[in-house]
Amino acid sequence: MTSMALQLPIYFDHNATTQVDQRVFEAMAPYFTEHFGNAASRNHPFGWKAEAGVENARRQVADLIGAGAKDLVITSGATESDNLAIKGVAEMYRDKGNHIITCVSEHKAVIDPCKRLAEDGFEITWLTPDEFGRISGQQVADAITDQTILVSIMAANNEVGSINPIAEIGQVARDRGVFFHTDATQGVGKIPIDVDQMKIDLLSMSAHKLYGPKGVGALYVRRRNPRVRLRCQMDGGGHERGMRSGTLNVPGIVGLGAACTIAGEEMDAETVRITALRDRLQTGISEGLEFVTLNGHPTERLAGTANLSFAYVEGEALMMKMKDIAVSSGSACTSASLEPSYVLRSMGVTDELAHSSIRFSLGRHSTIEEVDYAIDQVIKAVKDLRELSPLYELAMEQNG
Ligand SMILES: *Cc1c(COP(=O)(O)O)cnc(C)c1O
Repeated sequence: MTSMALQLPIYFDHNATTQVDQRVFEAMAPYFTEHFGNAASRNHPFGWKAEAGVENARRQVADLIGAGAKDLVITSGATESDNLAIKGVAEMYRDKGNHIITCVSEHKAVIDPCKRLAEDGFEITWLTPDEFGRISGQQVADAITDQTILVSIMAANNEVGSINPIAEIGQVARDRGVFFHTDATQGVGKIPIDVDQMKIDLLSMSAHKLYGPKGVGALYVRRRNPRVRLRCQMDGGGHERGMRSGTLNVPGIVGLGAACTIAGEEMDAETVRITALRDRLQTGISEGLEFVTLNGHPTERLAGTANLSFAYVEGEALMMKMKDIAVSSGSACTSASLEPSYVLRSMGVTDELAHSSIRFSLGRHSTIEEVDYAIDQVIKAVKDLRELSPLYELAMEQNG
């Protein structure tokens, strides 16, 4: 992107959602009006046109993750995909075993379905990530029993950006004959993913995290070697091979497909560009302030994500002071409560530092001007808040 005048407020919350790319929007537009048919209408051109749009989009999504177009079940987003994958496998394979392995730092869309299954008699093993927010293949291997039917480990964490060794975990699961589901909502379109090479059996994704529209996503469901069957969670007209009934959101699906193609084409260049911006932000802030720590893995991390803790400062207060910069804090992530982030806690971050954390997530439309403006604002805001902090004063005195 060429440099242009700085526009406020600045959006550094791309892990929460992204703006629809103009090219995606243009691809979708005709499917609201001219091509408005029901993709399930087999008897007239209106239906055929809609179906062609959907089939083309399926191909585009599949190409990005090395899947077959027929392996995709279209959903309303990653929350639904996670629910369908986890509950669908659990209910279908209940006779085979009742054990599921996941991790405490997953998104709520994985945690809550697993908690629900625990109430229904399933055993859940909750793995704890290391200090960098990652799970290892060995941890998964050690947890597998003869009752295990599913491993669900995310590709990349939404709060800290740490990327898990998905191929390693996939290999462990495959060797032991256990299905492997990954919530790849933050990974798809940002890091290379190949379901065959990584031995992924089920994969959740969402359009609005990769510059597509909200309310549409997909679940990849492996059809052979091994074949995965699911108990559907939405009964009805038998759409999506019986796994998810309901009239297809044709414009949304077309948008999801277009978003995937663009993300795939631009991934390499964007990773380089966005990593440079993120590192500039991180370095600029760290050079201007004391007591700044990075939460997440230093290198095995999403290009745009920098989750930083500012000791002696409340993240919420800091966000209020930086009115022109849209970010997330480690306290607000879970609903309206001010509980410190469970993700940071699971990595061993203290409650104080979790409350002091801010997640900056940069993306396709981020610019160097925005980064430089943000560096100044963050430094100024943190210094102002620390001036008022008795704890900071105390620490300064103790350190001489
Ligand atoms: C955003 C997100 C979700 C939820 O996706 P929706 O499409 O909004 O339901 C699930 N998992 C992760 C890792 C996410 O970042």
